[in-house]
Amino acid sequence: MVLRYATKICMYFFGIRRGIDYVLRPLMLLVLMAALNAGLKNSIVGTTGAALLLDIGITMLVCVPFVFLVYVIMMHQIKEQRGLISDAQTDDLTGLPNRRAFSRRTERALRTGRHGYFLIIDADHFKRVNDTLGHPSGDLCLQAIADRIKSVLRKDDLIGRIGGEEFGVLLFDRTMEEIQRFSGRLCFPIKVSVPGHNDLLRLTVSAGATEINPNDTLSNLTARADEALIAAKKNGRERMVLWRNRLTQSEVA
Ligand code: GH3
Ligand code: MG
Ligand code: MG
Repeated sequence: MVLRYATKICMYFFGIRRGIDYVLRPLMLLVLMAALNAGLKNSIVGTTGAALLLDIGITMLVCVPFVFLVYVIMMHQIKEQRGLISDAQTDDLTGLPNRRAFSRRTERALRTGRHGYFLIIDADHFKRVNDTLGHPSGDLCLQAIADRIKSVLRKDDLIGRIGGEEFGVLLFDRTMEEIQRFSGRLCFPIKVSVPGHNDLLRLTVSAGATEINPNDTLSNLTARADEALIAAKKNGRERMVLWRNRLTQSEVA
């Protein structure tokens, strides 16, 4: 308990983020302890000059094992905490950010005012897959769908599994042409090999997309992308529909 709070305080003050910090921060702690000791010696006993330097050196040597021990314990705690945080944000099946993590990242991205598109992608006729091949095969198919979506994203786009067979995506800085190309690559049939099934299974997805406007919130975007997704399903699936306005939906691909 005490160690947990000590770690939290250390993380707050030391803010270890890069590899070099793992060496620099304990060194800083060591120097700080030696300086404190020297200051005390100087004010209480009046040690100065070479004697003081020798004293600082000895203090640093004596403190090394102690600082190292504290540091190792601290790092262990930090690792554990990071693992727990990562588990809480990750979807077990696909390894993608879960709904909560995706929402938080999307909201953060919206605050930056960066231009982009928000998408909801849904597997087509997925219930049939489970009903005919069983749930474990359905799980394999969901992983294949997640892989397909990841393969058409850029490095800084956002993705998350937001429901059973639904994925949320945020595409940044795309022209209309790029959105059309994206749609073609995304909705292209996915061939999956399923155990106990000779033929490759053919899966498709549908997507609803909407452009992000200034002041949009996650719930606005979700409502519009949902509307576009329903249109994509109605229009025959295996396609992406871009939301235009309440009355007209125009298909991208
Ligand atoms: P549509 O094309 O209209 O989206 O039809 P659908 O069958 O995909 O939609 P529906 O909402 O009827 O069914 C979704 C199915 O997804 C039902 C559920 O069993 C399945 N599903 C949801 N989560 C998981 C999961 O984690 N693993 C597996 N195997 N199936 C899942
Ligand atoms: Mg669905
Ligand atoms: Mg579906």
